[in-house]
Amino acid sequence: MGRAPGSPPLPGAAPRVDRHTHLEGALDPAWVRAEAGRRGLALPPPLEALWHGSAVPFQGFIEAFLFGAMLLDSREAVREAVLAVARRTRASGATGADLWLSPHFLVVHRAQIRLEDLWRGVEEGLESAAREGFRACVVLDAVNHFGPRHGHAVLDLVLPERPAFVRGFSTGGLESCPFREWAPVFERARAAGLRLAAHAGENGPDANVREAVLEAGVERIIHGIRSSDETLDLLAERRIAVDVCPRSNAGLAPDLRPHPLPRMLQRGVRCALGTDDPGVMPCDLATEREAARAMGLDEPALALLDRHGSEDAWCLA
Ligand SMILES: [Zn+2]
Repeated sequence: MGRAPGSPPLPGAAPRVDRHTHLEGALDPAWVRAEAGRRGLALPPPLEALWHGSAVPFQGFIEAFLFGAMLLDSREAVREAVLAVARRTRASGATGADLWLSPHFLVVHRAQIRLEDLWRGVEEGLESAAREGFRACVVLDAVNHFGPRHGHAVLDLVLPERPAFVRGFSTGGLESCPFREWAPVFERARAAGLRLAAHAGENGPDANVREAVLEAGVERIIHGIRSSDETLDLLAERRIAVDVCPRSNAGLAPDLRPHPLPRMLQRGVRCALGTDDPGVMPCDLATEREAARAMGLDEPALALLDRHGSEDAWCLA
């Protein structure tokens, strides 16, 4: 008999971790609706459409994502958002999450919150979550298509007083700036003690995945779903962790069918599951596991995803 989607791991099984979720994209829809109402703001139509499971153009997704980000403008809002993410993730059977966040966007680009208020809100949210048995860390998210100068600006902002819960540095956004140009930024982040990841092979080609590993030196790839077999072999050989997010991929990479996750696992890649933007494209770790099961993965394969998920998680390191 199958187990309920939100069921906790079996005794002795690996703890489950949501390996990739963006705080700005993980806000609870009820909270977003209430905050928008309190502020007299109309919800953007693409956000409502995504909440109802409809497909929207990429620009519509960005509009929906940015609407949530705009609401993170106080220490209290950030604390509530972090705690809500932790509780929802826990309800899906997971006890940890690696949480991507773009401090430069919120603090400098939008100038909607002070850095110290952002970090205090995160810290308080994480402390409350920890009391409920949930562990999370923050991975800095820089925007690939803004280029390496932006990457340095992210590090300039955060490194002087980096909170202990900030464990990693990543790029995201459109994969339009070559990773070899980003290499000095990644090197600086590594020298400062941060782990390195990159969104690659999501909206960019296979070559981006190779370049992120070979030229930028990242140890973790987000998505990697456009990888060739040759690149998958490279990822397996180097034990690169790969975070795969089926719901997000269905929305933002709908041309990729069938989903390559079974092929990635067959070639020995250390894949794990994440939710990416579960407040915009509703999902949780339980629905992502069900999506993986629907790809034909059996219980041992799902258990392997869980094991990779916790063994390579930065929140548990
Ligand atoms: Zn992402």
